[in-house]
Amino acid sequence: MPSSIDLAEAQQLDLEDSLGTFRDAFVNNDPGTIYLDGNSLGRLPKQSAIQIGTVVNHEWGQRLIRSWGEGWFEAPQRIGAQLAKLIGAEPDEVIVCDSTSVNLYKLIIAALQYQQGRSTIITDNLNFPSDVYIAQGAIELLGNRHRLQVLESADQVSIETQQLQAALNEQTALVSLSHTAFKSGWSYDIAAITELVHQHGALMLWDLCHSAGVQPLNLREHGVDLAVGCTYKYLNGGPGAPAFLYVRRELQEQLRSPIWGWFGQQNQFDMELSYTPANGINRFLAGTPSIIALAPLEASLQIICNAGIDRIREKSVRQTEFLVALWEQYLQEYGVTLNSPRDPAQRGSHISLGHPEALRISRALIERKHVIPDFRYPDNLRLGIAPLYTSYIDIFTGVKRLRDVLEHRIYEEFPHEKPAVT
Ligand SMILES: *Cc1c(COP(=O)(O)O)cnc(C)c1O
Repeated sequence: MPSSIDLAEAQQLDLEDSLGTFRDAFVNNDPGTIYLDGNSLGRLPKQSAIQIGTVVNHEWGQRLIRSWGEGWFEAPQRIGAQLAKLIGAEPDEVIVCDSTSVNLYKLIIAALQYQQGRSTIITDNLNFPSDVYIAQGAIELLGNRHRLQVLESADQVSIETQQLQAALNEQTALVSLSHTAFKSGWSYDIAAITELVHQHGALMLWDLCHSAGVQPLNLREHGVDLAVGCTYKYLNGGPGAPAFLYVRRELQEQLRSPIWGWFGQQNQFDMELSYTPANGINRFLAGTPSIIALAPLEASLQIICNAGIDRIREKSVRQTEFLVALWEQYLQEYGVTLNSPRDPAQRGSHISLGHPEALRISRALIERKHVIPDFRYPDNLRLGIAPLYTSYIDIFTGVKRLRDVLEHRIYEEFPHEKPAVT
């Protein structure tokens, strides 16, 4: 057992932290509140607030329609290219548009239509509900000719590779998985799984919502076919910011988006009345991009690139390790379990702690203790680490306040009813 961790140690770790100054790049008008939910909604970068003002007041307010020719039109590609660096893709393999759910829909339908004669999609029950619904809807739309096979996690933390291996066969059209599970934080091995899936001739689609911006990824090197992800979690793009979509270059001309919009049309401004898909990644666009919603994302990606994704990951591992050590020392005795993998190599940047009263504990933390985590059904209290602005003192103080809630049963003051949003 290592010696006990105290506030001085957290302070020392912050002093030695080479990413510590990035905290100032984010708006924080309420330093008394500890924010541990950057995995759901990243903080607002100061530069993003400025950029929104520029787009609204100058580009829209003054330049009006001329702005389409002064940077708006290429925004989905330009920001996609910037994002490509963070996920190990080529600049022309990524585009920013629509939501993750809509992009999943486009790619799942495209993949099933391409994989003629193959009839199953494999996913797992750790996946995000929207990902599973979209697959179900795609199957119905295509006439119920496909089957969705959902691998079941034995421990609700991870899936054994053998389970996937046993499910794969010559009927598998597509494997659609979240790289990092939204509840447990467990991460698949992208290289190994993609290779296994390819051995069976299936396409591999990764949802990177809980890894983009906090875990280095090498989509191209690992031969990943398709990927999607949102930009409002660790990428700090703001609520409902447009998502991203990746298609491996060699596949781009083979696949078609099911949404035939004019932004995905070849020679869009010829205004031809029959659809011919654009070359390359552009064919996955549908309609006019949300320019105001893209403004903060570009500024935020710049901060992440300046910090460097490898350094972000290194700090994330140290901070989740720090949090696990604090759990052991301060929380375990109150019946709190670790619902995330013990090995940092197998997890992303959030830690889920289990407790039968997690819902009420979460409310008590928010309403009485100025600590913001989130709750995920049935018993997970998720604590998100966003290395660009989470400090070691945040983590230490958050855990101490959580211990206080447990020790004095402060959660008992709250009703059992679930609020509309958790
Ligand atoms: C957050 C999240 C989504 C959200 O999808 P939206 O279309 O942006 O609402 C989808 N999938 C996963 C894995 C997520 O974590």
